[in-house]
Amino acid sequence: MTSTTDPNLRPAAPPSSRHVAPRAENVTARSARDSADAVVVGAGPNGLVAANALVDAGWDVVLLEANDVAGGAVRSAEVTVDGYLSDLFSAFYPLAAASPVIKGLDLDAHGLTWVRAPAVLSHALTDGRSATLWTDVDRTAASLESFAPGDGDAWRDLAAHWQQVRDPLLDALFTPFPPVAAATRLLRRLGAAGTLDLARLGVLPVRRLGEERFAGDGGRLLLTGNAMHSDVAPDGAGSGIFGWLLAMLGQDVGFPVPRGGAQRLADSLVRRFQAGGGLLRTSAPVEGIVVAGGRAAGVRLADGSEVRARRAVLADVSAPVLYRDLVGLQHLPDRLGRDLDRFQWDNPTVKVNWALDRPVPWRSEDARSAGTVHLGVDLDGFVDFAADLSVRRVPRQPFVLFGQMTTADPTRSPAGTESAWAYTHVPEGPQWTSERVAEHAARVEAAVEAVAPGFGATVIGRDVQSPADLEDADANLVGGAINGGTASVHQQLFLRPTPGTGRPETPLDGLFLASASAHPGGGVHGACGWNAAQAALSANGRLGQARRAFARTTWERVLR
Ligand SMILES: Cc1cc2nc3c(=O)[nH]c(=O)nc-3n(C[C@H](O)[C@H](O)[C@H](O)COP(=O)(O)OP(=O)(O)OC[C@H]3O[C@@H](n4cnc5c(N)ncnc54)[C@H](O)[C@@H]3O)c2cc1C
Repeated sequence: MTSTTDPNLRPAAPPSSRHVAPRAENVTARSARDSADAVVVGAGPNGLVAANALVDAGWDVVLLEANDVAGGAVRSAEVTVDGYLSDLFSAFYPLAAASPVIKGLDLDAHGLTWVRAPAVLSHALTDGRSATLWTDVDRTAASLESFAPGDGDAWRDLAAHWQQVRDPLLDALFTPFPPVAAATRLLRRLGAAGTLDLARLGVLPVRRLGEERFAGDGGRLLLTGNAMHSDVAPDGAGSGIFGWLLAMLGQDVGFPVPRGGAQRLADSLVRRFQAGGGLLRTSAPVEGIVVAGGRAAGVRLADGSEVRARRAVLADVSAPVLYRDLVGLQHLPDRLGRDLDRFQWDNPTVKVNWALDRPVPWRSEDARSAGTVHLGVDLDGFVDFAADLSVRRVPRQPFVLFGQMTTADPTRSPAGTESAWAYTHVPEGPQWTSERVAEHAARVEAAVEAVAPGFGATVIGRDVQSPADLEDADANLVGGAINGGTASVHQQLFLRPTPGTGRPETPLDGLFLASASAHPGGGVHGACGWNAAQAALSANGRLGQARRAFARTTWERVLR
C-alpha cells in the first residue's frame, strides 16, 4: 500500500498498528498439531466456511493462513488516519447476506451484526441526476420513473420475477454443478417457457437486457453498474445475469456491511470455528501439498514442517497456484497443465482509501444516502471503459465503484466525517509502476470531483493499493485480480476453473479446491468453501470409496 506523500495530508498509521481486530479473535496457535482429519489452506471466507463445515461434522481441523490475520479479502484496518477504519478489499456483502451457506452459520451468535446505508446504491451522473436503488421498491421505481415514464413499473416487474425465482435460483447457484435438485425446483416454479427465459437471461449481455427492459437510462445504469462488479463487458455474453442478480439482491437484502468493519465478518467465522474445536494457525504459509500413494496426504509449510491430513486437504488457493506450485504438474494429468495455460484472470484493480473530514459533497441528493456509488461513466461510457480494458489501454475515464462506509456504518470514522474508498479496474499489460498507479488514482479522484465538486478539499488522508499491493496482501489476488479468475462464460460452471466437472473434487484424491477459482466463483458467499467441505465429507462417508472411484473415472474421461 502506498500512503499519500502530500504534505498537507496526515500520514497513515504505521503498518504495525493498522489492525484493529482484537488479537483474541485471530489466535495464532503455535502449539500446532502435526496431523488432523483435514487441513484447510487459506483463511479467506471460503477457507473459513469450509473449516466451519468440517468441525460441524465432528472433524478435527487445522486451518493454515499465510498472513498474520485471518480473513483473506475480508479485512479492515486503519490505513489512512487514526480513527478511520478502511475495508482493505471487499466491503459490501449482498451475496453473504443472501447466501444460504452463510445464513446457516448463525454468525450473529459469534459477533456479526449487519448494518445498511439508507440507500443501497446510486449511479451518479455529472449533471447531478442519479439512478438510485433503495430497499423500498417504490422508491427505486420513483427514481427510475424520473428517467423515463414506465421504467418504474418495469423495475417492479423485475423485482416481482426475482421473488418468484430467488430461493431455487440461489440454491442452484451455490451448490456444486450440476445443481439437479434446485434446477428441478426452478423448472417446477417457472414452467418450461419461464425456464427458457431464465436460460436466455443467463447468456444475455447486460446492455441488451437494459434496452429490452427500460426506455430510459436509469434502469440500464443500475443493471450495467452491477454487472460491472464482475469482469464481463456490458456487451459480453453473461453480463446480464450478473447485473440482474446483484441489482435484485440489492433490492431484496440491500448491500449490508458488518458493523465495525469487514474484519468482523472474518472474525465471526474464526470465532465460530475455534468454538467448534478447530485450530487456526496464522503466519503459516503452505509451500506444498504432500502427495503420497497417489493422494493428498498433507501439506508442507514454508518453515519445512508438515501437517498430515488423515482425510482431506482443502485449498482456499487460486487454481493455477494450487496445481502448478503447491501440488506440481508432475502429479496431475498432462491435460490439466495445458488447460491451466488457458486460465484467464480477471482484470487488475487499483483501490484508493480516503479519510474525509466531512461527508462527500455529491451533486445528487440521493447519492448522499447511498452506501455504494457508481460513477465516472454514463451508459456508453461503460462500453468504452470495457473496450479500454479489452485492448489493454489505460482508461481515461474509469468506471469507479465508490464506498461511503460511515454512511453505511457510523462506527467507521468520527461523527460528521466519512471513511471512503473507491476501486477501478485497469488493464493487464502495462507495468503498474508507482507513477502509473498515482496517475490513475488521480484520475479516479477527478472522476469523483466531477460528480461531487469540492471532494478533494474533504480529503485528510489517502492510501492507495496497487495491483501488486493487493497480491502482496493476499496471494490469491494474483496481479490484482479480485475474483479468482474471469467470470466470463468460457470459465463458468463446468468450465471453472478449467474444463472439467465444475465440482470441488480435483484429479488428486483427497484434495479439494475451495477458493473462488472454483464454481460458483468470486464474491463473499462461502459456497466454494462449503461445496469443498461437502465433497470431502462425502468422499469420506459411507459411500466414500464409490464416490472416490467415480470422481477418479470422471476426471480420467475429462482429461484424457
Ligand atoms: C478490492 C476488492 C473488492 C471486493 N469487493 C467485494 C465486495 O464488496 N463484495 C463481495 O462479495 N466480494 C468482493 N470482493 C471479492 C471477494 O473478496 C473474494 O471473491 C473472496 O474474498 C474470495 O474468497 P476466498 O476465500 O476464495 O479467497 P481470499 O479471500 O482471497 O482468501 C484466500 C486466503 O488464503 C490465503 N492463502 C493463499 N495462499 C496460501 C498459502 N499457500 N498458504 C496459506 N494461506 C494461503 C491468503 O493469505 C488469504 O487469506 C472483492 C475483492 C477485492 C480484492
